[in-house]
Formats: sequence, C-alpha cells, structure tokens
Amino acid sequence: MLKQKEILSKLKFSSLLDLALLIPANYDDTTLSEALIAGEEIVALARVENVKKLGDRLQINLFLPKFKRFVSATLFKVTPYHYTVFSVGAELFIKGKLTQFNGFLQLLQPKKITTIDKIIPKYKTTFKNSEILQMIGSLINYENLKKEGLNELEIKTILALHFPKKTDDILPFKTHRNDILKILKTIEAYNHFKKLKGKRVDFPPTVSLNGDVEPFINSLPFQLTDEQQKVINEIRQDLSNSAKAAKRVVIGDVGSGKTIVILASAVMALPRKSILMAPTSLLALQLYEEAVKFLPKSVKIALVMQGNNRGEYKDADFIIGTHALLYKDDLPQIDLVMVDEQHRFGANQRNLLSKLVSQKDKKAHMLQFSATPIPRTQAMMDSALVDVSLITTTPFDKDISTRIISKEDFPFLLSHIRDEIAAHHQVLIVYPLVEKSEQIPYQSIDEARSFWEKNFENVFVTHGKDKEKDEVLLSFREKGDILLATTVVEVGISLPRLTLAVIVGAERLGLATLHQLRGRVGRLGLTSCCYLYTHNKQNDRLVKFAQTASGFDIARLDLEFRNSGDILEGSMQSGQKFRWLDMANDEEIVKNAMMRI
Ligand code: ADP
Ligand code: MG
Repeated sequence: MLKQKEILSKLKFSSLLDLALLIPANYDDTTLSEALIAGEEIVALARVENVKKLGDRLQINLFLPKFKRFVSATLFKVTPYHYTVFSVGAELFIKGKLTQFNGFLQLLQPKKITTIDKIIPKYKTTFKNSEILQMIGSLINYENLKKEGLNELEIKTILALHFPKKTDDILPFKTHRNDILKILKTIEAYNHFKKLKGKRVDFPPTVSLNGDVEPFINSLPFQLTDEQQKVINEIRQDLSNSAKAAKRVVIGDVGSGKTIVILASAVMALPRKSILMAPTSLLALQLYEEAVKFLPKSVKIALVMQGNNRGEYKDADFIIGTHALLYKDDLPQIDLVMVDEQHRFGANQRNLLSKLVSQKDKKAHMLQFSATPIPRTQAMMDSALVDVSLITTTPFDKDISTRIISKEDFPFLLSHIRDEIAAHHQVLIVYPLVEKSEQIPYQSIDEARSFWEKNFENVFVTHGKDKEKDEVLLSFREKGDILLATTVVEVGISLPRLTLAVIVGAERLGLATLHQLRGRVGRLGLTSCCYLYTHNKQNDRLVKFAQTASGFDIARLDLEFRNSGDILEGSMQSGQKFRWLDMANDEEIVKNAMMRI
C-alpha cells in the first residue's frame, strides 16, 4: 500500500483542507430499511422461498420477515455462486432497488451483503477506496479541522460527509445541497487564501519614493476619473513604503486611461529613475509620445527600441522601450519598473527586467498594467499573491453599438462603410485567416482583398506574421480608409479615427478577443459600431456579447460559457481550477473567505 505522503502528493494535495474537500462521490449505505418504498434502494433480511431456473437466468422468490412481504427477483447470467447463495431456505441480507409491477414487489439486481447498518463513503480517485478511507480516517478529525481554522458548522459538515453514522447524515447533501455547497465553497476559498498567504514573498525596496504628483495631475487637460485617482493613491502608498517594494497589477479595460496612471507613477518616482517596457515598438513609441506630451518638460525621457533610440537612456529620468531593454547591460540605477500590456510578456521577461535593476536583496518597485479584464472574483483570488487594482470605468462614455450581421446585411454594411469614410473616419475589417482554407467557412484576407481594393481607395493590409506590420499600421493611422487585418490589431495601438469594426466569423473567436477588437473603435468617444459577421445570427455567445459592454462583465460571461462546457480558443487565462467554487458567481463567498485570513 502506498504511503499517505505519496498518495497526497499524487493527488496534488498540499494542505489538510485539500483532503477534507475530497468529498465522497457517493455512499454505500447498508442501513436496514424501515419501510418498503417502490423506487428506492432497500436493505433487508430475506429468506429464499423459491428458486426457478430459466435458461441462464434465475427467478427467485424472497420473503422479508420484517415487512411480512414477498418480493420476486430475476438474476441474469447466473454462476454456481448464485446457486449457493440463493438456495431455498437460506437467510441473508440483501440490497437492491425495489419496484412495483402490477401490485407485485420486485427487486432489481439484488445483492447479498455481509455488513449491515454501515455507510461507506465512495471516493472518486485513482486510488483504492480503502486507502483513501484509511487516510481520511487518520487525518480528518475535529481537532485537525479546528486547527486549520474552520468554524463549528464547517467542521460538523465535513465530518458528517466523511463519517456519516446514519442515513440522515448524508441526506442533507441531497435535500439541502445548496447550503452544503456554500460551506464547501467557503472552505475552498479560505483554503486557497491560506495557501497563497504563505507563498507571497516581499522584498525591501531599493528606496522609498515620494515624488509630488499633484502639480502633474493639475497640469492635465482633463480631470482624472475617480478610479484613476484611486489607483494613483494606491500606488502612492506602495511607493512610499520603505519596508516592502511595490508589487501591483493594474487591470483596466482598453481605453480606461492606464497611461496616465503610468505617467503619474513615473512622476512619483522622481527624482529617481523609472523604466517602462511595452510589447511592441509601436506601443512603445505611442507611450513615448504621450509621455513627452504630458510630463513636465524638465523630465528627461528616452526611448529604447531595436535600432531606433531617442534620447540618451543613461541620463534619462524615464526610460521607455521594448524588450530591447532586456539586452542593455548599462542601465542606470532604476527604482521603479513598469510593464504595460503585461499579459503579452512571459513571466521570465517581466522578472528579468526587474532583476536587471534590483540590488541583491533589495528590489525596485514593480507595477504591471493589463488590459485583459478578469472577473472580480479572480482578482480577489490573485490578490493574495500580488496587489490588484481594477479600473472598471472609462474616462468618457464610449458610444459603441454592437450588431450581429449576416450575408443579407452586406449591402447595408457597405453603405455604412462609405458613410464613415466620407466622414473622414476609418474602418477595420478582421478576417479569420490570411490564406484560403477549406476548414473555415469564411473568406480569408487573400480572397477578400481584391474586392475592397477595387471598390475603395486607401485600403491597407496587415497580419500577425507581416514584418512591415508596424509601418503599415502607422501609415494607415495617417492616411488609410480601410484596414484589412487578422487579430493582430489586438495589440493596444490607438487609432483615434477608427469608428467601425467588422469581425468576420466572429463566433470563432473567444469573448476576450472580441472585446479587445471592439475596444479598437471609438477610442475617443466618437459614435462607433462593431459588426459581428457570422453565418449563425442566433449564436448565444454573440447575442450576449452584443448586449455587454464592460470588459469585466465580459470576463464573467466568458467564464460562464466555459463552465457550461463551451470551451473555445483560449483567449483568457484559464485561471485556477476549483472543485466547488464558481468564479463567475461566487464573489460574495470569496470576499468573506478573504476576510478570514
Ligand atoms: P488604456 O487604458 O487602454 O491604456 P489610454 O491610457 O491609452 O487607455 O487612454 C485612452 C485615451 O483616453 C487617451 O487618449 C487618454 O489621453 C485619454 N484619457 C485618459 N484619462 C482621461 C481622462 N480622465 N479624461 C479624459 N481623457 C482621458
Ligand atoms: Mg494602454
């Protein structure tokens, strides 16, 4: 028999509560029945009255003394074993499902049982039930659960589920399933926080940063939103901490105004230096331009990209760049590290940047920014490891309507496209593929291109593997009317005149991707439209997507579809797997569990 430790590690259990939450899949209940109820399993003492052989079947008649009733049963595929067990006059305990047929009682598949009045939990693992039973028996008890911090009700529930004494103990799992589930969910969330709490490591900062950000905020041509202000305050607290370096992720929808938060952070770092890494040259350039536009003129800003630098990064207060930064071995002393669109980098790259500028056991403050909204519940779960700020509103109300269209709407779509171009706006059309494919019932860029080029001017084309992607996007931004692309435009480039997006074969994309694409239009509040082109207008996901605007709600919706088994192209982090918790709906439970830590 495997040792407990081995079993626990094979089950990937690292805490006592992991084991406690391995709830039996069902129970083998051999409690003697008090009544004969058709449709239910019964356990009773029986005397064999009569046996008749019919081919390879055995027809038996049993008398149940307790109920003074006869029941009949048919056994299939009988073996010599059955003859000995069911010989006339034999008394035995049997278990089987009772049915009623024309007033006669029948037992389906009666089995002889040797133990009675016991309830044996059945665990669903790859191990023998007896091994799990033994382990649970030796580890799960009142004292141990109490030590883990569970309350009386939780302990009582867990013990009843693992060690039921009578049928009533397991009945609530059927009759009050939701109450029990809620308790299990709470324990699971609590267990999660307990485990993560031990995993979070904090380091002292290289220095505490206290730059005055007020003059910068007052110099802006607009007012910060409440949430931008709130996040800046949280970061202010982080940076001024002299005991531990900041470790925060700021998550905000596309267009929620994260750049200003980045710039404000660079200002709070002054007179010390900060660095910002972005996933593409285009994005780095855009951030650089915004930094130059908004930061005080006295702040020295440098841009570092492969073969294209601006300013001298060794003297700069604020260095902005791509991953080219990771190859610099002569970076100055830097006390604040920021990463924009952090989900586009691997963990290694993000950590490398921080390592480059940290000193031995002291770390630079670290802020990461992400435009991939996650459900609030997930954010809470993550907050045990890293501080999380959410920006859920945008500075101006975005006026984007989403419509699901099909082939028959094409003439209407064309006239809408012409109107937008006439108004000096721009149009984006996203195709599923560059080249023709038999697998996909939609046109590719290659197939559609000539139509657009023949009927419109200033048509630009790019895609993920296009080496000239950045140049194409930059010229399109200046002088294009229509951009044909694959989902590359997902990267947060700002095209302020873009007011119409058409997503071809929309149902093939994950909700997060659709949301990113939709976020490209109406960046500055212009009335905009997102068309989801599909052969299936009734598609439930698309219909719900069209009705939902906030990225945080979309993330929740995405989870709901995933939970319901509708798993699509992975566009959102799959997150942690939970046995009982439903991240889409259990916000309250998670919040309560978090407060117990
Ligand atoms: P994202 O969160 O996607 O990075 P940005 O920082 O690029 O969003 O902001 C989108 C646009 O909104 C930018 O043009 C920015 O200047 C503008 N903006 C940011 N904050 C505000 C605000 N409080 N009021 C008005 N406009 C703002
Ligand atoms: Mg951004």
